[in-house]
Amino acid sequence: MIEFELGNLSIKISEEVFEKMKSFIQDENHKPEAGGILIGHYLEDNNYSITDVSSPSEFDKSSRFNFTRSKKNAQKIINTIFKDSKGKKIYLGEWHTHPEDYPTPSGLDKKSILEQIQGNILNSEIIFMLIVGRKGIYISSVEKNGIKNSLNINYDEINKISLDILRANLTKN
Ligand SMILES: [Zn+2]
Repeated sequence: MIEFELGNLSIKISEEVFEKMKSFIQDENHKPEAGGILIGHYLEDNNYSITDVSSPSEFDKSSRFNFTRSKKNAQKIINTIFKDSKGKKIYLGEWHTHPEDYPTPSGLDKKSILEQIQGNILNSEIIFMLIVGRKGIYISSVEKNGIKNSLNINYDEINKISLDILRANLTKN
């Protein structure tokens, strides 16, 4: 589990989810952008947990510098997960890769994430935009009136966070 603070929010991402997104890192010239949706729980007191991510599907459009996910397919995934979890797992935003070491969102990225939260009825008032770069991730919280807090975390730090948590758990037991 990777855990970090984003403004006044506390976010957890499961190791499995993280590895899944990292498997699409654009570390070679021919690899296209990849992406999907973030799914998880809103726990009380500004705590969020990202437990699932969707992978690119054949319905998405993707090139080296662009990724447009299929609306229909994503909605299907959201509906299925919502139903299977009895409403506990909800849509929490979008992820995609960038062919840069430390990613920053493009103008189009910002525009489309705002369209997501402004144009749809969602189960969460806050969603996240996560971009997977070659050496780190960018994540921001997004509300109806704009992009709020953002954070860059590099993979070295994440490995260290995981190790620290692992060590803390070992000490506890
Ligand atoms: Zn982008």
